[in-house]
Amino acid sequence: MSKLAVSQKIKLAVSNGEHKTQRIKVGGVEVGGDQLIVMAGPCSVESLEQMLEAARAVKDAGAHIIRGGAYKPRTLPYSFQGLGEEGLKILSEAREETKLPIITEVLSPEDVELVENYTDILQIGSRNMQNYNLLKKVGKANKPVLLKRGMSATIEEWLGCAEYILNEGNREVILCERGIRTYETITRNTLDVSAVPVIKQLSHLPIIADPSHGTGVRSLVNPMAKASVVAGADGLLIEVHPEPEKALSDGDQSLHPNEFNNLMKELTPLVRAIGKQM
Ligand code: PEP
Ligand code: MN
Repeated sequence: MSKLAVSQKIKLAVSNGEHKTQRIKVGGVEVGGDQLIVMAGPCSVESLEQMLEAARAVKDAGAHIIRGGAYKPRTLPYSFQGLGEEGLKILSEAREETKLPIITEVLSPEDVELVENYTDILQIGSRNMQNYNLLKKVGKANKPVLLKRGMSATIEEWLGCAEYILNEGNREVILCERGIRTYETITRNTLDVSAVPVIKQLSHLPIIADPSHGTGVRSLVNPMAKASVVAGADGLLIEVHPEPEKALSDGDQSLHPNEFNNLMKELTPLVRAIGKQM
């Protein structure tokens, strides 16, 4: 088998030779183990009512980790920017009620300590993959980091960014393929499913896939979630909203709770077929 190669200067994010995926404990579950870990919830935390409804729905369908954005990196300054700390408090209530861990994005180095106090996983978004000051800051945090691939980043650049976090001492990095910019315009991004086996061959870091941002289209989330799982992803990040038509962000790609429930049911035989559990 020909060997995939990246710069030999990347040491901590790349494993030489045979390696097992690192297991990263989050609450009662492990990312990178035999279980497919599903993180689900709305793009943005909009209100206590909306977040609790979403959290209950994804928990009932079998999700392991609750997501919701309190600080939102929006394309335009006129769009909803998130509830900030109020959103973090709402997320804590969702954790309290569901007893599931939570993941949320941190946008700037100044907010890392605050966000770390509330969340179980710190999410670094696609637009911030190369925000080196932010990477160094979360590299000193005591919580696992989910590092999304930059929308125009090569896999080598992405691993270089993981290296920044690892080099500061935080050895718990989960990678997330969320789609890249290509010439295609029908989809919002092109989900690079091949990044999953590439990372599996190069690195011990767990990798999950985000078919919501990876396609931008609700009807494509289900098939691309399945493709990612069969390609070997350790988990999925899926946007689910109680009323996607009324969502303040990413409604077009958010699943209705019943669609998420169906997806979880349809994933079960695929997960078993590749020797994992749901
Ligand atoms: C998100 O998860 O809502 C998000 C903003 O994702 P990305 O950074 O991949 O665009
Ligand atoms: Mn989103």
